[in-house]
Amino acid sequence: AKKAGGNTFHFYNRLMNQDTLAKIQLESELRSAIQQDQLTVYYQPQFDLKTRKLVGVEALARWIHPEKGLIPPCTFIPLAEEKGLIHQVGSIILTKACQQMAQWNGEREAQIALAVNLSAKQLNTPELAGSISDILHTTGLNAQHLELEITESCVLSDPEDAIHKLEQLKALGIRLAMDDFGTGYSSLAYLKKLPLDKLKIDKSFVDGLEINPEDAAICQAVIALGHSLNLTVIAEGLEHEVQATILAEQGCDQAQGYFFAKPISAENFARCYFKKERK
Ligand code: C2E
Ligand code: CA
Ligand code: CA
Ligand code: CA
Repeated sequence: AKKAGGNTFHFYNRLMNQDTLAKIQLESELRSAIQQDQLTVYYQPQFDLKTRKLVGVEALARWIHPEKGLIPPCTFIPLAEEKGLIHQVGSIILTKACQQMAQWNGEREAQIALAVNLSAKQLNTPELAGSISDILHTTGLNAQHLELEITESCVLSDPEDAIHKLEQLKALGIRLAMDDFGTGYSSLAYLKKLPLDKLKIDKSFVDGLEINPEDAAICQAVIALGHSLNLTVIAEGLEHEVQATILAEQGCDQAQGYFFAKPISAENFARCYFKKERK
């Protein structure tokens, strides 16, 4: 037993070291990715559920690694948050997305909205509203076309300060959406205090919508709650037509998900959604 214990310790120790090493390596690669412009933005369309018209896009961070290829945000956003790189990463993604949207809206008559994810850590910086205002000015994007997606975790550590920061953002003319709604804590307590424009029903409630009466009831309740507070309600993670049908019947305003489209590059997005409009 003693021997096995020793081996087990050795095994875990080695695993831990490998894990730590891999993380240190990834951190240094992320730092050079920032320097070498390897971060990019993918776009997932958002549709009006009644008319099925394109109303907006969500910008989603991607890392085009020279050897490893496309790296999803779940591998580098939490790391960036941990290592204090999220301000740089967030500002790169926001700048690129605003630039792209300003160009698209400049070329097209139908104006669409750009949703960008904001990390809780970004909300902690005093200069947040100032730097976002700078980005809007340099890219030329109309503030009304920018929507920032926050999560309940943004509000948890210092609610008073978070509300203050969000009000500064609202003062710029930006809209605010509560992402992953219903998955965090104290959702209802914050709803009346935060200057929100939109609720985003989390994918976990949409997943079982057509099978599970509880999920259907939750979606219906969130839609009613959102509407009674004058908020737009969008559902995320729709993978099947039937989910779109049910949510539309329930009065949900907008939706996004693989059923409509996966996140794609700017080039592909323009090809899919704007090409036919041009002559
Ligand atoms: P999120 O904000 O909840 O974004 C939705 C995620 O669900 C995206 O994953 C999207 O590709 C995926 N998704 C959309 N529709 C479907 C569907 O029908 N089925 C399934 N299975 N998945 C769907 P992605 O792009 O990997 O992003 C993961 C998370 O990383 C995001 O979750 C967000 O929390 C974070 N993230 C992404 N970009 C940024 C960013 O620029 N800044 C910050 N702070 N976080 C970001
Ligand atoms: Ca989001
Ligand atoms: Ca979400
Ligand atoms: Ca989610």
